[in-house]
Amino acid sequence: MAIRSLFPVLPMSTSYSFPSPSTAAGAAAADRLLAPPQGSDFFDASSPAALDRLADGNRKLLRDLSTFGIGGPCSFFLESSRPAHLLCAARLARARSLPLLILGRGSNCLFADRGFDGLVVLNRFSSASAGAGDDGVEVVGFGRVRAWSGYPFNRLGVQTAAEGWGGLEFAGGIPGTVGGAAFMNAGANGQETAEVVESVEVVTREGDVRILGRDEVRFGYRWSSLQDMQDLAAIIAVTFRLRSAPAARERQREFLDGRRKTQPIGERSAGSVFRNPAGLGVTAGELIDIAGLKGLKIGGAKVSELHANFIVNTGGATAKDVLALISAIKERVDQMFGIELMEEIRYVPYSSS
Ligand SMILES: Cc1cc2nc3c(=O)[nH]c(=O)nc-3n(C[C@H](O)[C@H](O)[C@H](O)COP(=O)(O)OP(=O)(O)OC[C@H]3O[C@@H](n4cnc5c(N)ncnc54)[C@H](O)[C@@H]3O)c2cc1C
Repeated sequence: MAIRSLFPVLPMSTSYSFPSPSTAAGAAAADRLLAPPQGSDFFDASSPAALDRLADGNRKLLRDLSTFGIGGPCSFFLESSRPAHLLCAARLARARSLPLLILGRGSNCLFADRGFDGLVVLNRFSSASAGAGDDGVEVVGFGRVRAWSGYPFNRLGVQTAAEGWGGLEFAGGIPGTVGGAAFMNAGANGQETAEVVESVEVVTREGDVRILGRDEVRFGYRWSSLQDMQDLAAIIAVTFRLRSAPAARERQREFLDGRRKTQPIGERSAGSVFRNPAGLGVTAGELIDIAGLKGLKIGGAKVSELHANFIVNTGGATAKDVLALISAIKERVDQMFGIELMEEIRYVPYSSS
């Protein structure tokens, strides 16, 4: 992959141009950024046509939007390349009491076989159409980069490491978006997203833009307080603060080599299925391996022979197969070790009722 330079000369302070809603000028600029497309009733929540347009989702299968390759149709669908789309979709969902799901690469989700009874917004804010940088990512200060939430997290990790910046080396192997990484506090190789987040820009369900400083977002193991934020519509951008690390790319290559040897990269999965149990000094994968479950198969879902904490879709797996396999693993590990494994992947049911 050709790597576009993020820090073309030496990293230096540049002016941070994203509209800050806390100033009058910023609020006006944010309004422009979030304004509905002109001359269109597409997102007018009161227009019956709005929902009809989004009902095209009936033909959109969630299996095509997830790395697992599993999941039925969603009731309403929108591919969004501008924050304005998302904002209007959020308002529409609210006005019609529709469940709203914002999706990055679907690399941490297991969708139900019946699909999702609500509005799915596929986040593609990563290009010039979103209005910042010419590739969805820009340098905003010394060692500071701001990326739209739909920007590929692995690409950001490779770009920053190649330029001698440390903190996102681990991201090189994570197939999600910047928004998904912040939401999940993605991590690997002893690093995690939380360590380098400076701020997170969000849109609320009421349509307000808020910039949350690092001290306003709490992070834990594969958890962020964004997951519990009741009025969150979507993360729209994240600013990272990195440190100079000339050997970053070399270290990243070692991480990637390790991944290739130990994880079923070429197969369909959603990454690690279970969280590592806290404070036991043993990983979920090791427990599943010792329990002799590698290769266990239900329908088209199989515990990977390479990494016991991965379930792979060997072809035609259903969510029902994966859920049955998860139950079987949990039961065996509990019986053998008295340890209750907890899921890291997010199961998205057809409806919450
Ligand atoms: C082969 C493989 C390897 C992996 N390795 C790792 C690893 O090493 N470490 C790790 O932590 N994870 C790993 N994962 C899991 C996954 O890639 C990460 O959790 C990733 O951060 C998810 O990003 P996403 O954009 O795909 O999120 P999605 O799966 O699309 O969404 C996950 C959750 O985040 C929410 N979300 C996504 N974007 C937004 C947004 N913009 N605003 C609000 N909410 C949002 C969704 O609603 C959903 O609840 C791996 C997955 C695979 C398939």
